[in-house]
This record gives sequence, C-alpha cells and structure tokens, in this order.
Amino acid sequence: MTKINGLVMHGFKSFAKRTELIFDNKFNVVLGPNGSGKSNVLDALCFVLGKRSAKSLRAEKAANLIYNGGKSKTPSKHAEVSIIFDNSNKTFPIDSETIKVTRIINQSGQSVYKINDKRHTRQQVLDLLALGKINPDGYNIILQGDITNFVNMPPIERREVLAEIAGISIYE
Ligand code: ATP
Ligand code: MG
Repeated sequence: MTKINGLVMHGFKSFAKRTELIFDNKFNVVLGPNGSGKSNVLDALCFVLGKRSAKSLRAEKAANLIYNGGKSKTPSKHAEVSIIFDNSNKTFPIDSETIKVTRIINQSGQSVYKINDKRHTRQQVLDLLALGKINPDGYNIILQGDITNFVNMPPIERREVLAEIAGISIYE
C-alpha cells in the first residue's frame, strides 16, 4: 500500500495561505464546521492526482480552483497542491525516500505538473501514480454522493461498477 505523508495546499480554493496536512500511518480524519474546507481538502487530493474535470472538483471552471480572495482579500494568481508519498519501500522507481507530486494551475486554467520539483507531463505523473496503484478516477476514492449513486443506479450499471472494481472488465 502506498502511504501518503502529507498534502500541501497553497492558493487552492479556501486555502489562501500555505497549509500543510501531515498524515499518520493508520487512519486520518479531517474535522471542522460546515464550510470550513473539509471537502476542499479532498478536491485538492483529486486535483494533485491529475483529475481533469473542474466539475468533479466542485468548480464551474478550472480558474475557480484558485483562491478568489473572498469579499475583501487579494485573490491568488495560481493554486498549487503537492502530495508527498513515502517511498521507503521503493514503490516508485525513483531513488528517493519520498516522492513529491505537484500540480499548479494558473488563471487561464493551464496546469503544470512536477515530480520532486522537476517539471513533467500529466501523463508522466499518471504513469508514476499507476505504479503505486493510484488512479484519480479509481473506485478507491469514494466521493460525496458516490454511495447514493451506487444505490440508485440500475442493476446492470451497478454490476459494471463491481466488474470494474473486481478488475475483470478489462478482459471483456
Ligand atoms: P460541509 O460540512 O458543509 O460539507 P466543508 O467543510 O466540506 O463544508 P467546503 O465545501 O470544503 O466545506 O468549503 C466551502 C468553502 O470554500 C466555502 O466557504 C467557499 O466559499 C470556499 N471556497 C470554494 N472555492 C473557493 C475559492 N476559489 N476561493 C476561496 N474560497 C473558496
Ligand atoms: Mg463538505
């Protein structure tokens, strides 16, 4: 299993200032009152893993992922999120104890991806993540509303989801 050491957000949605979350080994929970940014943390996670559609990150357009300054503060020029993976068991074929993946988005909606601070393409990031069995659209990330959708979907569709999770649909 790939372990996440931390998540750093800067200028992403409500996180104007650099905000670092440190993850423990077992179980981690983000708590806070309504509107405090809990779901934004999950959006940041999906964002840095390369999720493309702004809508699935709960934004109308990509630029809305950038801190907007609220009513009276200065908006950010770009949003930056980094995720740090533990690589002590060499899950990723890079000679370093930790792997940092970064995604930065600017006001025109363009993204820049980095691996350990060096610029890479999105595909290179996705290929690297795949080695750790990480997929931003995978079913190991359960988002708000996913369970309700799963319960309400027609049985055939539900079966397709199960086949996908079981890993048998690629053989069809
Ligand atoms: P709930 O408990 O209601 O689910 P939550 O803790 O999940 O709340 P979020 O949805 O993560 O809350 O955060 C909502 C807040 O994020 C809102 O106050 C919204 O204004 C703010 N927000 C979203 N996008 C931006 C942005 N681009 N710039 C600044 N603030 C933003
Ligand atoms: Mg929420």
